[in-house]
Amino acid sequence: MGHRTEALFRDDAYLKTAEAQVVAINDRGGILLDRTIFYATSGGQPGDTGMFERADGGRVAIAATITGETKDEIIHVPAPEQALPAVGEKLRLAVDWERRYLLMRMHSACHLLTVVCPFPITGAAVAEDDSRVDFDIPDAGFTKEDVTARLMELVRADHAIFTRLITDEELAANPSLVKSKNVRPPVSTGKIRLVCIGENASVDSQPCGGTHVRSTGEVGEIHIGKIEKKGRENRRFRIRFGPMPAN
Ligand SMILES: [Zn+2]
Repeated sequence: MGHRTEALFRDDAYLKTAEAQVVAINDRGGILLDRTIFYATSGGQPGDTGMFERADGGRVAIAATITGETKDEIIHVPAPEQALPAVGEKLRLAVDWERRYLLMRMHSACHLLTVVCPFPITGAAVAEDDSRVDFDIPDAGFTKEDVTARLMELVRADHAIFTRLITDEELAANPSLVKSKNVRPPVSTGKIRLVCIGENASVDSQPCGGTHVRSTGEVGEIHIGKIEKKGRENRRFRIRFGPMPAN
C-alpha cells in the first residue's frame, strides 16, 4: 500500500506556494509529503520542479516529481547533493511557477487541438515550448494554417475551463467522452475528473488529471508548427507558442 498524498493542485492549479510536512524519505532519497502543490509526471504532462524551504532557511531543490506505487503517492525527487529534510519536518513548498504556467497553457492547448481534430488520440506529450498530440487518422486532410486558425478562434472566444467529478456509471453511459485510444481513465475509484471547456461544457469535456488554465484566453497565441506522418494511420500535430512563422 502506497502513501496517499493530498494533491492540492487538483482543486487549485494556481497554488504557487504551500506548507507541508515530510511523512517519509524513500530508499532513493525521494521526499513524500502529507500534501503537495507539485504535479507528478502523468498523462503526458511532465512533473513539477521547484524548491522546498526549511524552517532554518535552508533550501532543497526539487528536480522532478513522479508517482510512486500508486498514482496517489507523489514523490519529490531532490536535485543531486541536497541535504534531505527529516521525517516530521515542516517545509514551505514553491513550484517553479514560470515553467508550470507554460505547461498549463500548453496542456490546455492540447485539449483545444482535440476539439479541432476530433479523432482518437494515440499519444501526447506536453513541454514548455513544443507539445505534440498523435491522432489515429489515415490522412489529416488539414493544413497547419487551417488548424491554427481554428485553435485561435477557441482561444479568442475565451471559454471557461473547469473540472467536474462524475461517477463510473456516468462515464460508462457516455463512452464518447473518452478520446484516448489506448489509455482508459481509471475506473473503480468511484469518481472520474472531467475537464470541461465552455459554458455547460458545450465546447468539450474529457477525463484528465492534469493542470489547466482557467480560460482558453489564457492559452495565448499558439500555432501548429508541423503535421507529421508517423505510420500509416498516425498523424502527429506539434503545437508551439507565438504566431505562425512567415514562410
Ligand atoms: Zn488535461
